Amino acid sequence: MTTPVRSAFHIRFVVAGTLVLAASACTSSTEVTPARTTHADRYVDLTHDLAADSIFWPTGETFRLEKVADGVTDKGYYYASNNYSGNEHGGTHIDAPIHFAQGHWTVDQIPLDRLIGPAVVVDVTAESRANADSQIGPADFTAWEQAHGQIEADSIVLIRTDFSKRWPDARAYLGTDEHGDAAVAKLHFPGLHPDAAKWLVGRRIRAVGLDTASIDYGQSTLFETHRTLYERNIPAFENLTALDQLPPRGTTVFALPMKIKGGSGGPLRAVAVIPAEVSR
Ligand SMILES: [Zn+2]
Repeated sequence: MTTPVRSAFHIRFVVAGTLVLAASACTSSTEVTPARTTHADRYVDLTHDLAADSIFWPTGETFRLEKVADGVTDKGYYYASNNYSGNEHGGTHIDAPIHFAQGHWTVDQIPLDRLIGPAVVVDVTAESRANADSQIGPADFTAWEQAHGQIEADSIVLIRTDFSKRWPDARAYLGTDEHGDAAVAKLHFPGLHPDAAKWLVGRRIRAVGLDTASIDYGQSTLFETHRTLYERNIPAFENLTALDQLPPRGTTVFALPMKIKGGSGGPLRAVAVIPAEVSR
């Protein structure tokens, strides 16, 4: 007989159309093959290429790739190698809590279970398109919950503005393509209102991410959303892309940064896995 645990596994992972068949099969001695296979899962890359034209915070050094070798050696084999450099906070990247919270986790100290988990995607594209200075508030989350159910503890909350479609045009994406301290006052892009950060702390989320350059909106001067979340060791993923390819819930996100010892953040490879049974 199939054990109850095994039965639950089978029921959870079969597509809706075969649910009845699988459930009844579990009561007999016949072993059921799960309809779900890894081949049917879809993988979505939430990461921009890291390149010379990647958008960085105006005060940070941009990404550079310097060729060390690229050619056939005198021993007859091909060999390629590069040096790279750049600020931690550019391209698709993670903010470690220490970025705005002294004494909190550096990027290498963030436990893996903060970086891998079930995701919800909150669509704020309409207000973002209408106003580059818009701030996502608690009302955006409560409206989402009315449509899709409660945001559970340990969720990774992704905010979709579709500003990623402006990448890598810095003027369209950031509001300015200038560099240096003076450029910071010219930043215009949506972010999370500090009240939304407090609301997410109350939901005990795992991490937050969005497809703009910062979780505080461009015109922020006190970075209260950063401070509120990082003081609770909730990391953030910034400059994500392809959030328009994700359903509102049902995906698992893997957001694994470069493990820079003592880093305040770093380049991130973020992907989402959409199980075959999750309809889009
Ligand atoms: Zn950052």
